[in-house]
Amino acid sequence: MGNILCRTSIALALILLTACDGAPPPAQVLEGKTMGTVWRVNVAGIDAARAAALRQKIQQQLDADDQELSTWKADSALSRFNQYRGSEPQRVSENMADIITLSLRIGRKTDGAMDITLGQLVNLWGFGPVKAPPTTPDPQAIAAAKADTGLQYLRVIQRDDGQYLQKTLPALSVDLSTVGEGFATDHLARLMEQEGLTNYLVSVGGAVLTRGSNSGGRPWRVAIQKPTDRENAVQARIDLQGHGISTSGSYRNYYELDGQRISHVIDPRTGRPITHKLVSATVIATTALEADGWDTGLMVLGLEQAKAVALREKLAVYLISKRGDRFESWMSPQFAAFLIEN
Ligand code: ADP
Ligand code: MG
Repeated sequence: MGNILCRTSIALALILLTACDGAPPPAQVLEGKTMGTVWRVNVAGIDAARAAALRQKIQQQLDADDQELSTWKADSALSRFNQYRGSEPQRVSENMADIITLSLRIGRKTDGAMDITLGQLVNLWGFGPVKAPPTTPDPQAIAAAKADTGLQYLRVIQRDDGQYLQKTLPALSVDLSTVGEGFATDHLARLMEQEGLTNYLVSVGGAVLTRGSNSGGRPWRVAIQKPTDRENAVQARIDLQGHGISTSGSYRNYYELDGQRISHVIDPRTGRPITHKLVSATVIATTALEADGWDTGLMVLGLEQAKAVALREKLAVYLISKRGDRFESWMSPQFAAFLIEN
């Protein structure tokens, strides 16, 4: 009976698998809302009082991260940088500098497909805090917003007294929405470690990181959900072994315009939402932040280029694409190493 598995949705396109035969001691499941999405922490070996205190600390930390990185809060540190219309280096936190440094690196390694400087385009298409009517922007507006983007116009400067962020294009607007969840997930893992907890699953939005084992003493087992299924049907099972995982999927967040699905992921090369047949990209990496950065870049690149980049960079990647009515999957050799049969 050991093969009976209970399936719980834990993140975008990801399912947690637990044995539901027998009665393992209950794990504490903590949940809440942040960054326009949900967070979730499963932790084994703590009692209810400790769980309640932990829940509060988690919410406080996530609220603080959001207050720093959100483009949806006009008074966040990031929004203030975006509102600034000059080119003097601006002091930022170490966290902000780290996220931006990594995002720029992934941006360069995806030939600019992952681009955190797309803020103006994101707003133009109505996916940002500045609401736009649900009509296709005209080509001039797209070209104008596109002219206000570019990885080469943003840099992180390390000085003796701290980290600075500089934009050489005054209207450049940084959008960390696509890596915020990964960062917050890693940050939660650090909180768990500070608390002396070593058996946990932490998740924010589409990003998950696990360490140790669940309350049944088994490693956390995560599965990728089939793209169309609403009933938690499993596409592939994974043993994360202490890594971070993140999925980007255009079938989740989109609106329809003239019968066409408009993804909220934008291709920096065209200034338009992606339209190709790659429906989801899942990446496993040392940190959830890295996984979250790469999955977006791969989504933008599309199936063939995503495969090439995954192989070149030796990334653990699982891609689902649509061919006619059928879904096809592809995985890199590094991803296959995480796969489990049952
Ligand atoms: P997904 O739903 O596919 O996981 P995310 O939520 O991670 O996507 O990121 C989507 C958000 O990232 C968009 O709403 C926008 O704010 C921003 N974004 C859009 N296109 C890009 C891009 N090419 N590179 C970086 N960020 C982007
Ligand atoms: Mg992402």
